[in-house]
Amino acid sequence: MEYIPNEFSTLVREMKLIQRWQPRFNVQHKRKRMYASVKLTREVAPRIVPVTRAIPDGSLYFGPFPAVGTVGETVRELAHLVGLRDCPRSTPMFFDDQLEVFGESRTPLCIRAELGTCLAPCSGGVSGDAYRQKVATARRFLEGRTRAPLAALEIRMQSAVARIDSEYAAQLRDRIKRLQNFQEHLAAFRGRIESLTFLYRVPGFVGDSRLYLIRRGRLRHEFPYPTSEGERRKIDEAFARLKKWRGERRRVRD
Ligand code: SF4
Repeated sequence: MEYIPNEFSTLVREMKLIQRWQPRFNVQHKRKRMYASVKLTREVAPRIVPVTRAIPDGSLYFGPFPAVGTVGETVRELAHLVGLRDCPRSTPMFFDDQLEVFGESRTPLCIRAELGTCLAPCSGGVSGDAYRQKVATARRFLEGRTRAPLAALEIRMQSAVARIDSEYAAQLRDRIKRLQNFQEHLAAFRGRIESLTFLYRVPGFVGDSRLYLIRRGRLRHEFPYPTSEGERRKIDEAFARLKKWRGERRRVRD
């Protein structure tokens, strides 16, 4: 027999057991939906890549998005626009301000440098600082703090219109729309997900009240409801251990 202190805990336990054992005749909680996120990697020359799973490797994640297919396309679009690389992690990097021991000349390792869609940090095409500035632009765009990449596309679209190159202008219009929708989705989602960070107080069956830490819609911790200053401090320490928690508002819901 297992002791469960309240109804909320029972529902969570039931859901976890169903997900673990996948009982044949259960319908609810068995469906696994696939979501995609945008990962800003933590590397010498960071990349933005679409992923379906987040791992705690120090990278930044934006999303999730329900449409896995279109996210890949939009992320590629953004990387090309800003000039970030999208080659494998193992590709050797060589920034223009790096010391060259053997004095050999380097050529870009793929065609993107020639097409002007990558700054080519693999062959000294850019300094470390300049590349990091582009990474910061991509990050600010994903955080909804800049629309610089869109402005660049808009300028190109206007000059295409001036040349009466309607086909190219229409292509650029669609690209702008896609990136705009992407940014709007991120902004809307950010607001919704932040509202799902709170402390949930649940009265127990025999006075065994519990406090649940829900962060971004996920149950992260369960504590007995604190009755002393020492216990409250312990909960505060647990919060502090959670990444980035300090910046978020602590709210208690009953
Ligand atoms: S040009 Fe170099 S850094 Fe850019 S994507 Fe190609 S291999 Fe990677």
